[in-house]
Amino acid sequence: MKFLDNNFLLKTKTAQRLYHNYAKDLPIIDYHNHLNPKDIAENKQFKNLTEIWLQGDHYKWRAMRANGIDEDFITGNKSDKEKFEAWAETVPYTMRNPLFHWTHLELQRYFNIDELLNEKSASKIYEKCSNDLKTKEFSVQALLSKMNVELLCTTDDPSDDLEYHQQIKKSDLKTKVLPTFRPDNTLLIEKDDYLSYLKKLSETSKIQVNSLETLIAALKARVTYFHELGCRLSDHGLAYIPKAEISIDKASQVFKKRLQNEILNEEETNCFKTTLLSELAKLYHAKNWTMQLHLGAIRNNNKRLNEEIGADVGCDSIGDFKQAKGLSHFLNNLDSTSQLPKTIVYNLNPRDNEVFATMVGNFTSNGGINKVQYGAAWWFLDQKNGIEKQLNTLSNMSLLSRSVGMLTDSRSFLSFPRHEYFRRILCNLFGNDIENGELPNDEEFVGKMIQDICYNNAKNYFKFE
Ligand SMILES: [Zn+2]
Repeated sequence: MKFLDNNFLLKTKTAQRLYHNYAKDLPIIDYHNHLNPKDIAENKQFKNLTEIWLQGDHYKWRAMRANGIDEDFITGNKSDKEKFEAWAETVPYTMRNPLFHWTHLELQRYFNIDELLNEKSASKIYEKCSNDLKTKEFSVQALLSKMNVELLCTTDDPSDDLEYHQQIKKSDLKTKVLPTFRPDNTLLIEKDDYLSYLKKLSETSKIQVNSLETLIAALKARVTYFHELGCRLSDHGLAYIPKAEISIDKASQVFKKRLQNEILNEEETNCFKTTLLSELAKLYHAKNWTMQLHLGAIRNNNKRLNEEIGADVGCDSIGDFKQAKGLSHFLNNLDSTSQLPKTIVYNLNPRDNEVFATMVGNFTSNGGINKVQYGAAWWFLDQKNGIEKQLNTLSNMSLLSRSVGMLTDSRSFLSFPRHEYFRRILCNLFGNDIENGELPNDEEFVGKMIQDICYNNAKNYFKFE
């Protein structure tokens, strides 16, 4: 079989038919990513391939570092062309890393380039792509329609005025672009700049935050504002949910201490976080939003790089936190007052796959189909092996057929072929099972199930307007 041909990852005839007849042409609902709404509103034209492909992509940065490339060529002041050449030189050595597949899929799907990227082809590919990027067919909005993106959700701080989302809403852009409420900064009470963040939140919300009560009021006002702009999801990135006391009274005391710059102990911090997270969850429930919990990363491990370049530069890894008890306690508390919102839980440590997949199943009653979802393979697990493991765990412990499927979680406008990657893997699993006699040979029924997982379920679950 030729590298990356039409039937890439589709090992059986049945898988090939399932993919080409049912999955391939479905629109994309990318319900979680980190695209910049400003780029969409202003319909940005990227000036070259480095700018759209390498700036901000810490997956590629890690691979380049592992390949011995000097930091000057990664995040330093070398020219865009030089940085691209350093990446091209690295690409052949990424074989068996998902970057190798993603890179060539992206070259094929966006730029019609079948050639392999390496030191030799670098210059030619850079010129062709950079020239393409200057044309209007490669503006940000054109790229979205090229990839058949029906809807996408960015990730936004509660203190954001959503100016660009306002602009996009008024435009005639066909792709629906919605904000997502990500209030991590309100929960990170231990951070040095917490009080200055509160000041910012006070300004945007026009509610003076000087108590837990006013903090919650400010967040409630922002939830309402986000909702008006079509927001239907929130997102939280946490190492784990602490199993801590959930108490408004106690959390109010803790917050007061923080406002007076007193030092908090771990128990106090945990109580504050779990209590505020619960209050936020109740706000989401009231609006019929979906709460996303991305759990399990241990971030910014390299202090030297963190100080030199900043946070989130590719020095994060999988943590080994205890997850089950805290998650159970938190979800149960909300369920006990019937205020548990629709929830998607994503885990980063694959050893926890079964832990998460079984935990979500405890809270599915009276909430519609699969109210608490086990989220798609994420970050380090967003590759063939990780996706297959997630799909198999979900199949074994819950109902794969009711999953809301894939998202890119990406910062790049060239990442949408990851949906195709997921769809191929999904079709391949079903195709294998059918040809092995483990599933009935009912292509129409299975095809419809695949369409549900890739598109319909997300549409029905999130209830976007
Ligand atoms: Zn994310």
